[in-house]
Amino acid sequence: MKIGKDTVVTMHYKVVDAQGKLLDKAQEPSAYLHGGYDNTLPKIEEALEGQEVGFATVLKLAAADAFGERDEALVQTIPKSEFPPGVKVGGQLRGRSADGQEQVFNVMKIKGDKVILDANHPWAGQNLSLSLKVLEVRAATADEVTHRHAHGDHGHHH
Ligand code: ZN
Repeated sequence: MKIGKDTVVTMHYKVVDAQGKLLDKAQEPSAYLHGGYDNTLPKIEEALEGQEVGFATVLKLAAADAFGERDEALVQTIPKSEFPPGVKVGGQLRGRSADGQEQVFNVMKIKGDKVILDANHPWAGQNLSLSLKVLEVRAATADEVTHRHAHGDHGHHH
């Protein structure tokens, strides 16, 4: 079966940065619903369209095609006194951006009585190299199309 609209693709992937450092290696295969449902990066869909099980490729992605450029407006400094106790560097906090959107902030640095938060994706601003291997391709179920994501072992759990 070829990968096309409304197929569920199960793949293995590995992400390295421009220096070849491993950023992420999926322990388990992951599945997504193909066909412009925003389940994965558009560049991945583009590369896999029309391919079959066993297809493997390495995609070089510029930051703009991967997780976007860094947005310095997403970096905030707040007084430590406004912080819940026990927050550490590397932790995460949920908050709202200036326009009211819910956002996850990573705690980057605690400097004196100031805390520096960053809501950029950790891979924003990085050129990435993605190794993909297609393990399975199947037609999506009606439920999956309605929900706009893949179900099953490697997909979404309800
Ligand atoms: Zn669902």
